[in-house]
Amino acid sequence: MVKETIRVYARVKPLGRRQQAGIYSADNEEPLSSLEITVPRDLAGGFINNKRESYKFKFQKIFNQEAKQDVIFDSIAKPVAECVLAGYNGTIFAYGQTGSGKTFTITGGAERYSDRGIIPRTLSYIFDQLQKDSSKVYTTHVSYLEIYNECGYDLLDPRHEASRMEDLPKVTIMEDSDQNIHLKNLSLQQATNEEEALNLLFLGDTNRMIAETPMNQASSRSHCIFTIHISSKEPGSATIRRSKLHLVDLAGSERVAKTGIGGHLLTEAKYINLSLHYLEQVIIALAEKNRSHIPYRNSMMTSVLRDSLGGNCMTTMIATLAMDKRNIDESISTCRFAQRVA
Ligand code: ADP
Ligand code: MG
Repeated sequence: MVKETIRVYARVKPLGRRQQAGIYSADNEEPLSSLEITVPRDLAGGFINNKRESYKFKFQKIFNQEAKQDVIFDSIAKPVAECVLAGYNGTIFAYGQTGSGKTFTITGGAERYSDRGIIPRTLSYIFDQLQKDSSKVYTTHVSYLEIYNECGYDLLDPRHEASRMEDLPKVTIMEDSDQNIHLKNLSLQQATNEEEALNLLFLGDTNRMIAETPMNQASSRSHCIFTIHISSKEPGSATIRRSKLHLVDLAGSERVAKTGIGGHLLTEAKYINLSLHYLEQVIIALAEKNRSHIPYRNSMMTSVLRDSLGGNCMTTMIATLAMDKRNIDESISTCRFAQRVA
């Protein structure tokens, strides 16, 4: 059940038929699917970095604009949740430019119940499974970490409402003598059922930092990691088995030049580019056989995920794509990132 390499999927966000006419085609063959992006003629000339007119990428599977949230959960998240229930660690990332559907995929839309994303569906699934298993005693906690400009913030800190983000104690990384990572100032809140866990998710989402850019009024310039921690104990046994599942909504991957920003927004963009680059380096290093040094320490994200990437863990990435003309170069660069880590 546990795979060593990372599984990378693509999800194309719904747009008007006319907006994406002729831009991409997907072939869902087994075992890998291919996605072909065609640069429209009127764009090809003035295109930065893109000399070809057509690009082909391979994914585990490609979900087109018709794919609903339940299908995404069943195909992508459920296998990872099963691994975590079996005692392994797992990580699911959403990677893509701002507005491509990362938050919709990870957390979901607020309008319809059927728009619930991976986090609420995973919580529901996990609590269902735990309830069915009377052979062990389970304890479940959640934590919600936001990483903004390489600083960590606890989204479940009850002081959030009373103070500004900058005034809250920062989450810091401590390493013990066995090289285990401990996060100082990140709370682990116990959730005894689905409803309690959902309330914590809601609290964290309310606290999430939102910065405006000209491209999107509510773009997320930070990485958010929602983690489900499960511990289990057999009656009469003193051994506790622990596993965790990280559900990661990465900051927008768009390049700076396009959004026309400066000042502190430029600083944000530099931190984002750098942290995505370090994440890529770690994933690539993990895939290389016989590689002894994995550069986890370069960024907060990779330090936090240190025990949940590669090896005995199930790691999955969803590349989210907005396939209209205006975003075609970002879509190509998202696919390129996905190919490098796959
Ligand atoms: P991101 O988090 O990558 O910036 P969002 O998830 O906020 O992007 O998506 C941008 C907008 O598009 C939101 O209004 C969201 O509800 C909508 N959206 C994204 N993906 C889908 C989808 N698969 N189905 C319906 N609406 C979507
Ligand atoms: Mg978002």
